[in-house]
Amino acid sequence: MSTFKNVESIHKSTNMSVLSERIRNLTASATLEMARISRELRAQGVNVIDLSIGEPDFNTPECVKEAAKKAIDDNHTHYTPVSGLAELRKAIAAKLKNENGLDYDPVQIVVSNGAKQSIANTMLCLVNPGEEVIIPAPYWVSYTEIAKLAGAVVKELFASIDNDFKVTPDELEEAITPKTKIFIFSSPCNPTGSFYTRKELEGLAGVFEKHPNVYIISDEIYEYINFTGKHESMAQFEAIRDRVITINGVSKGYAMTGWRIGYLAATKEIAKACDTLQGQITSGACSISQYASLTAFNGISCTSREVRTMVDEFRKRRDAIIDRLSTIPGIRTNVPAGAFYIFPNIASYFGTRNGKYHISDDRDLSMYLLGEAHVSVVPGSAFGNGNCIRISYATSMENLTEAMDRISEALSALKQ
Ligand code: PMP
Ligand code: GLU
Repeated sequence: MSTFKNVESIHKSTNMSVLSERIRNLTASATLEMARISRELRAQGVNVIDLSIGEPDFNTPECVKEAAKKAIDDNHTHYTPVSGLAELRKAIAAKLKNENGLDYDPVQIVVSNGAKQSIANTMLCLVNPGEEVIIPAPYWVSYTEIAKLAGAVVKELFASIDNDFKVTPDELEEAITPKTKIFIFSSPCNPTGSFYTRKELEGLAGVFEKHPNVYIISDEIYEYINFTGKHESMAQFEAIRDRVITINGVSKGYAMTGWRIGYLAATKEIAKACDTLQGQITSGACSISQYASLTAFNGISCTSREVRTMVDEFRKRRDAIIDRLSTIPGIRTNVPAGAFYIFPNIASYFGTRNGKYHISDDRDLSMYLLGEAHVSVVPGSAFGNGNCIRISYATSMENLTEAMDRISEALSALKQ
């Protein structure tokens, strides 16, 4: 039996809307959408605990903030080169060499408005309409939509909780066809926290080696939020290295989501294409944020304590939530090795009810938890697995404990 399903990305619409087909076929980001609903409810006075948005609840390190203030005072407030400041690209190349063992020349690096834009740049520069993009599910919500924007045919490759939500080389081999152009994944993964070991990546690299037309987007944005130790990059495998586009940034590792700095590292040809695309759409990223990021990359000594504190705290929260979820009947989880999400399987609650609420799927359950427990989570179907919900633990232990109490009580009130 095939382990993946085909999702046709181009729909013919009969709607007479003024909007383009492209935008009408685009789904809003479920993570941002749930965060918006939570904010609105809170503004109405409802005491919502928001476990929907995925962003560190820690402050940006002090020395990084100081660098931004200095950049303003020094009048670094003008356009930068499209691909980013030369010093910043140099610092990123040094980081990739020192921390990941990857050799990139600064001209192979393109700095963008967040890792999200780096992914969009890559997808738009590589995919022709009708080509296939393989996305292991669960996946981060924006992968499918960005692929659709590029006109791709999205193929979701199901990864089971029984294998820690990771795909195997055999499953990958089965999914690749002559039309496959891109494979995109994150490790550590949003939404499962799963982390591919070196050996597991090597297994996948072995398959890619046999398919020279397939490019791999390796999203490593959660690199630093890893509870198992050393990060492993897909680009470390020489035989496929030129076909790997490494995506990373400062959003998660340095608690800098609002600064909007991400980057990609790729061959000169791909980097140049992304520079051209970005030059026609957004130009270089914010100059002040680039100077701040330069300090983040160069300032290991001034940021490391704050980053370590953040990661230690995430680990404590993960352990606490896993412990707590294991006491709630009918919930199954993997043990996330990184990021700050848990993706529990809640399918045993389908078919239950409580008053006006009838739970038939993950969306019903998420709306029930929001309406009844005032806890906001994201339905798993947005990540390609409707048997789960995503819980972000990027909030205080106090909030998490209260949220778990509320979830537990609301679930126990659901009856067949
Ligand atoms: N990739 C993944 C897996 C993410 O979770 C996020 C967070 N939104 C991004 C990319 C985008 O990061 P950024 O905020 O730097 O655009
Ligand atoms: N990565 C975060 C999340 O998944 C941020 C929101 C977004 O950009 O989708 O919640």
